[in-house]
Amino acid sequence: MNLPVDNWSNVNGSGERKCRCGSWKQHWINFSGKEWPSNCSVKGCYERPVLGAHVRNPDVKGEKIIPMCCGCNQLENKFSLKGGVTCVSANMSETCG
Ligand SMILES: [Zn+2]
Ligand SMILES: [Zn+2]
Repeated sequence: MNLPVDNWSNVNGSGERKCRCGSWKQHWINFSGKEWPSNCSVKGCYERPVLGAHVRNPDVKGEKIIPMCCGCNQLENKFSLKGGVTCVSANMSETCG
């Protein structure tokens, strides 16, 4: 799946959402089939990711989950992702629902 790297934004108010995986971090691990990365997904950020963040992009259908640090999860402006970041669908009916 080829994803755009630019024009991403956080989904406001997604912090209270829950899924069956227990956390969105675990949701990302369950459905990416990958190990949790050591760096945040946001371009230019090398903090340790601590959560699975809800993000969206005008050119991508549906909301996605990506590994992020606390600081980037507070960004109110648009941001870019590193190349090769794995996004998992946040839609529970397509994943753990
Ligand atoms: Zn889940
Ligand atoms: Zn970050």
